Amino acid sequence: MEDKNNIYFFYKHTKSMQETVEPLKQLATSQGLNVVDDVQKANIIVSVGGNNAFLQATRKTNFRSDCLYVGVSTDREGFYPDFTINEIDKMFEAFENQNIEVKRLSTLEVTIDDEKPFYCLNECSIRSNVIKTFVLEVFIDDMHFETFRGDGMIVSTPTGSTAYNKSVRGAVVDPRLPSLQVSEIASLNNNTYRTLGTSFLLSGDRTLRLKVVQDGNDFPIIGADNEALSIRHAEDIKIRLSDKQVKVLKLKDNTFWHKVQRNFL
Ligand code: NAD
Repeated sequence: MEDKNNIYFFYKHTKSMQETVEPLKQLATSQGLNVVDDVQKANIIVSVGGNNAFLQATRKTNFRSDCLYVGVSTDREGFYPDFTINEIDKMFEAFENQNIEVKRLSTLEVTIDDEKPFYCLNECSIRSNVIKTFVLEVFIDDMHFETFRGDGMIVSTPTGSTAYNKSVRGAVVDPRLPSLQVSEIASLNNNTYRTLGTSFLLSGDRTLRLKVVQDGNDFPIIGADNEALSIRHAEDIKIRLSDKQVKVLKLKDNTFWHKVQRNFL
């Protein structure tokens, strides 16, 4: 068996999910794929669940660039999963025929206080952990851009633009546009405090820097996709597009904009 055929199934280990995934494993074996239990040995990682499972699969496997990720949805279609469990044959056919493409999805690299960076596929969110507003000095590269006072900020990738970012009226961004979008959560705007008041899009070669003003409210909640980092002191948060890209198997006639249309219109 060639190494490139090593397939790993990522799913929540509940009894019902195990019952759902077992036939998939058997099908994979019958198709000549080698099902592995050690994710380190995999070169195809299949998430079974929905967007949530796909986000977890990429995070828990450290956004591997030497692997092909595939999303399988257990109910309705997701933004990341292109395949549904009821039409699983399509996934196995896709491994063999030409009706697929491999998309490279952007991730964010987030560095807090010069510690080891972490990565996000949807977004990084920074929110106050108390009722009081908190203050962020916002820098674009080295330029001081604005002083934010409010609940927090969301910095999203293009594929994350349809998630949390959209709920705060951020724009939906074509994933072909390497960029990061900065969206406010409830900014205070009056004669004393002023922010841009709209979302803005930064080119992929820029760095956003957020300095948390140390006024006793300097333990923000930092969210990386669907996980919250443990609450801790943060002073300097640097966010840029990462060199790490997630390779994902997609059906050819199922673009991001088809999904936007089907999900929102
Ligand atoms: P969840 O259970 O809180 O569900 C959030 C919803 O967002 C689900 O329906 C999920 O399928 C959907 N979703 C996730 N990624 C998406 C994407 N790229 N485009 C469109 N929809 C998407 O948590 P989850 O399923 O683990 O998803 C985590 C995401 O939820 C976070 O990354 C964040 O974007 C989003 N979120 C949204 C809000 C909000 O809209 N107010 C608040 C917190 C988190």
